[in-house]
Amino acid sequence: MAVIKKTLAEIEEMKEAGRLSAAVLREVGKRCVPGVTTLELDEFAEDYIRSHGGIPTFKGYGGFPGSICASINEQIVHGIPSSTVRLKEGDIISIDTGATVNGWAGDNAWTFAVGKVAPDVKRLLDVTEKCMWAGISAARPGNRLGDIGHAVQSVARKAGFGVVRDYTGHGIGRNMHEDPAVPNFGLKHTGLKLEAGMVLAIEPMITMGTHRTHVMRDGWLVVTQDGKPAAHFEKTVAITSDGPVLVSNEPGRDRPID
Ligand code: MG
Repeated sequence: MAVIKKTLAEIEEMKEAGRLSAAVLREVGKRCVPGVTTLELDEFAEDYIRSHGGIPTFKGYGGFPGSICASINEQIVHGIPSSTVRLKEGDIISIDTGATVNGWAGDNAWTFAVGKVAPDVKRLLDVTEKCMWAGISAARPGNRLGDIGHAVQSVARKAGFGVVRDYTGHGIGRNMHEDPAVPNFGLKHTGLKLEAGMVLAIEPMITMGTHRTHVMRDGWLVVTQDGKPAAHFEKTVAITSDGPVLVSNEPGRDRPID
């Protein structure tokens, strides 16, 4: 495993990409209302990224056609935007955005409620966000990779939710996906030693039922095997000697929406 560490100057450079991917995510989130299609969200996102000096990282990545991933309800990740998929009241939608600026990639996701959602679904969103923050807090020198996964998993388990194991977070830099893989489960004090200069995309995928997944026929869309809802939150985080630093936030914001 070759982890590419970044200097503090490089981490500063990465913040441009991180901020743009966070800004577009926030703007797309505002547009997740009943009646809108996921292709409309995608077109908005592509325009926004390009008009702010970025390149949509996802577009063409491994042949992916969209600038965002849009995954609704039981869909976990990698939903291809479509003109035939229309949001309705009570849906939840994971929007994943990637923006490349000056050769650095930024990667972010948030699951938005469309209108009013059922209380147990709202709880899934709250818990998954908490999982993400718990994982981020564990991203510090002296800890190991397993500490991040353990932190995420503990919050999910306590709430009675499933933790997707088939997909993970990842290192990020000049490439969107670098080593190491960052599982959302693990044992304390195990795995790769975390060091200053590592930049990770931490992205819990949490389910209301089984953690087991299924890939649909388009080869991209990942759904829960039992059809129960899933949520997904992601931020890009740099490990520094002072602890975790958010790379994917706009200045003054610690959430993409507020
Ligand atoms: Mg990611």
